[in-house]
Amino acid sequence: MKTPLLVSDFLRRGRTVYRDAPAVVCGSERLTYGQVADRVDRFSNALRALGVGHGDVVAYLSFNCHRLLEAYYAVPQLGAILLPINIRLTPPDIAYILNDSAASTVVIDRQLVALYAPIASSLPKVKNVVFMGGDPKADLPFSGHDYETLVKEAPAQFAPPAIDEDDVAELFYTSGTTARPKGVMLTHRNLVTHAYSSIACAHVGDTDVILHSIPLFHVNGWGTPHTLTMVGGKHVMVPRFDPEHVLEIVEREGVTKIFMVPTMAVALVNSPSWKARDLSALTKVMFGGAATPPALVRALDERLPHALIHCGYGLSETSPILTTAMPKASVHKDRSSSFSSRLTAGVPLPGVEVEIMDESGQPLPHDGVSVGEICARGNTVFAGYWKQPEETSRYIVDGWFHTGDMGSIDDQGYVSIVDRKKDIIITGGENVASIEIEKAIYDHPSVLECAVIGVPDDKWGEAPAAIIVLKPGATLDVAELIEHARGKLAHFKVPKHVKFVEVLPKGGTGKILKRELRESYKKDLQTATAR
Ligand code: AMP
Repeated sequence: MKTPLLVSDFLRRGRTVYRDAPAVVCGSERLTYGQVADRVDRFSNALRALGVGHGDVVAYLSFNCHRLLEAYYAVPQLGAILLPINIRLTPPDIAYILNDSAASTVVIDRQLVALYAPIASSLPKVKNVVFMGGDPKADLPFSGHDYETLVKEAPAQFAPPAIDEDDVAELFYTSGTTARPKGVMLTHRNLVTHAYSSIACAHVGDTDVILHSIPLFHVNGWGTPHTLTMVGGKHVMVPRFDPEHVLEIVEREGVTKIFMVPTMAVALVNSPSWKARDLSALTKVMFGGAATPPALVRALDERLPHALIHCGYGLSETSPILTTAMPKASVHKDRSSSFSSRLTAGVPLPGVEVEIMDESGQPLPHDGVSVGEICARGNTVFAGYWKQPEETSRYIVDGWFHTGDMGSIDDQGYVSIVDRKKDIIITGGENVASIEIEKAIYDHPSVLECAVIGVPDDKWGEAPAAIIVLKPGATLDVAELIEHARGKLAHFKVPKHVKFVEVLPKGGTGKILKRELRESYKKDLQTATAR
């Protein structure tokens, strides 16, 4: 028998098997699976009454909240396409995405209307605006429907339309390497196969309580809106990552699993109540999205001896998790023997193949030394870029998706990321991974955050520059930092420029934006030359 693999299947199971179980905690709201499923069906009916149907794009401008979780079901079960937009973008960027995707409906958190007001008149395709959250009585600069009224007044019974498993269910825009942001199309089939594999690998079940620290507008919230719903676990929403608040909620709700980009964990480890809170319910902390400093995993290993701390790797284009660095029972007998494996990007999820390829597209040996571009194929790999077939065929070549990340694979199948292709620094003819220099700098106890970029250099072509944020109250001067780096790195890898700053520019998930650092560094250098 063959039935289509559909996203709606996740909540279908939750609504029957876990009807009275807690589904989501969001501020003072607590909803069961039965209540979420009822709200989802009603909102689908309301959208249908507004004219939303198969293939229409419904965009969201929202913090993490239970209504955005509802969107992950209410929109795709109509055969429509969910487009959660990064709320850190500027209004013109948001206008570009709304026009490019031809979104017919935009659902906006009232606290975010300032993002939409300046562009409201430049969106000819938008037919419906829906407001949610915030103060329902707030005076808004443009008109729209009220989410809760739509939910309350819509019929409860939802009649699902026919949907093909290859229909697009979700769309996520990435900034990518070109000027135009690209919409990554994830189909029902991509998302369902991703959920099956990641549930198996992450051992997610109905005893799990997951804190959504990753914004749901980013790469499918690392898959958690689907995986956890399917097994009837409890979702915990926080609107933004405030470390003290996160620690309080982990303790209060008994959070068992948390997924973070490394900068989030750096903030947790350095926050005043890190040592005081009861974090004993945590069984797993997974890092991804950027390279994780070993010192950070060591700090978590010490503070959470009962939990499994490991890294993972993925991209929007891979739904997103591609590899996870779970220890192997046959190889790793304890935490210390698995330490270096847990710091790698990990082994492929079931159902996906990962290879490293040379420039001619030939796979390289899994010897832990050969470095090539990380490529992937499997059911979790996206269907292509929205309305950009030429970009799709630049990245999917001979059936393999080329990630733009450089790495190696060892004889146990663990993938190690060396760097993004475009972040590799070529200095004096040598390729230097910015990640390697960052790891060495993070080992200094005064360093809170750091990023290394390549800057133009008359003698070496490019030279590494380190931009560093110190821990509160810590002191460190350039000479001491260079001395530290010399003790850990080959001479040509030691930063030639060091800049101490108060904050580093970050994207929606808290990932450091090297693109912006390069731009501002370029400006600094130009100003210095002009003087
Ligand atoms: P995005 O699709 O915006 O989440 O970005 C995906 C990119 O994040 C990848 O192409 C990698 O460059 C980077 N990334 C994700 N996970 C890791 C990791 N574990 N280590 C280093 N870089 C990572």
